[in-house]
Amino acid sequence: MHHFNYKEDDLYCEEVNVSKIAEEVGTPFFLYSHATLTRHFEAFDKAFAEVPHLVCYSVKANSNLAVLRLFSGLGGGADIVSGGELFRAIKAGIDPDKIVYSGVGKKEEEMEYALKENILMFNVESHQELDALNTVAGRMGKKARISLRVNPDVDPKTHPYISTGLKQNKFGIPISDALSEYRYANSLENIEVVGVDCHIGSQLTQTQPFVDALKKVKALVLQLRDEGINIKYLDLGGGLGITYDEEEPPHPTDYGKAIIAETKDLGVILVFEPGRVIVGNAGVLVSKVTYTKEGEEKNFIIGDAGMNDLARPSLYGSYQGIMAVKKSDEALIVADVVGPICESGDFLAKDREVQPFKPGDLFAVASSGAYGFTMSSNYNSRRRAAEVMVKGDSFEVIREREEYSDLVKGEKIPSFL
Ligand SMILES: *Cc1c(COP(=O)(O)O)cnc(C)c1O
Repeated sequence: MHHFNYKEDDLYCEEVNVSKIAEEVGTPFFLYSHATLTRHFEAFDKAFAEVPHLVCYSVKANSNLAVLRLFSGLGGGADIVSGGELFRAIKAGIDPDKIVYSGVGKKEEEMEYALKENILMFNVESHQELDALNTVAGRMGKKARISLRVNPDVDPKTHPYISTGLKQNKFGIPISDALSEYRYANSLENIEVVGVDCHIGSQLTQTQPFVDALKKVKALVLQLRDEGINIKYLDLGGGLGITYDEEEPPHPTDYGKAIIAETKDLGVILVFEPGRVIVGNAGVLVSKVTYTKEGEEKNFIIGDAGMNDLARPSLYGSYQGIMAVKKSDEALIVADVVGPICESGDFLAKDREVQPFKPGDLFAVASSGAYGFTMSSNYNSRRRAAEVMVKGDSFEVIREREEYSDLVKGEKIPSFL
C-alpha cells in the first residue's frame, strides 16, 4: 500500500497535489512519501517482532540522507556496499553498531574507514578479502567482526542481472567451500567470526527460494557450532520483491512467518538487508511532456526525464507504471514514453496504453523509489533531478536539482592546452 492516490482527477502524494510541487520545484523530480516509507519499514520490522532481529536497510536502493535519517529514527541500521555509503549512513546518524558491509570488492581504505567507525560486521565474499581484512585490522590493532557471504546455489527466479545466489554469479563463497573458509577465518588473529550471511538476489516474488537458501545456511550454522565456531548473527540479505505490474510477491508478514519457522530454535539474531521492498513503491519520478510525435509506426511521448534519471526500464527492460498527474477522460492511446537522451534505448515505457498526453502535461513514473535516483547519471550532461519528500500536507526538497556548474565540478583544463 502506498500514498499516491487521485483526488478527483489530480494525483496526490499524501495530502499534497503533485502538480503544485512541480510548479514550485520544476521537473523532473523524484517524489517520496514519508508515510509510505514509514509504513513499509514498520511492516517489515513487525514481521520479525517475535524474534531477535535487526533491519539493516540496503542503502544502495535509495541513499538520500533524509531517507536514511527516517529509517534510523525507526531503529533501522544499514547495509552498505562502499565507503561512500558508509559516509552517508554515518552522516544520517545511523548507529555504526547496526551497519553491515557487503560487496565483492572492498578496498583496504574502505576497510580502514569501516574499522575506524567500528561497524557491526563485514560480510566477506572471498578468501583474498579475508586475508586483506585480517592484515588491515592487524595494522590498526583491531579485530574485524565478520560473516562469510555464502553462495547457496539457489535460483531466485528473477532477472539474471539481479540474481546473485547462483554458482555462476560473482558473489560470495560457494557453500561447498564454506566450512573450510570458516575454519581458516577462525584461525586468523585479527578476525572474529560472528555470523553467516547470504543474499540470493533482488525482486524475488516467491518465498521458496529464500527458504531453500535458508535451509542450506542453517545446516552450515549447526556444523560450525559443532566445531566450536559460535554464530551469533544470521544475515539473510534482502531481495523481497514488490508489485511493479502484476507480480504478487509475498507480504513481509508471510515472508517473516516462513523465516521464523525455520530459525526459531537456532538461537541467532536475524539480520535483514531489505531495500526495494521498503522504498520501491514509496517514490515516483515526475516528468513533464516536452513534445509528442506520431511516428509512422508508433506514437511517442517525449518527456523531460530519461534513462539517465531512471535506468531500470532500459537496463532491465523493466515495467514501471505511467500515471497521469491530471487525469483526462479522453480515450487512451498506445505510445512509447521516452526521454531526450540520444539513444534508442532511452525509454521509460514501451507500447503502453496511456492518456493522450500533450506538451506541458505531467506524468509520474510509478515505483521509482528504489534504484531510481541512486542509479541516475549525468549522461548527455544532464543535471541530476531534484528529490522531494512529502509528509502530510507539506513537502521539502531533500536534494536540489544539480546546477550546470555541478556538471564540471573538479574538471580542469590542463596547463598544456
Ligand atoms: C542490493 C542488495 C540488497 C538489497 O536488495 P533488495 O532487492 O533491494 O532488497 C541487500 N543485500 C545486498 C548484499 C545487496 O547487494
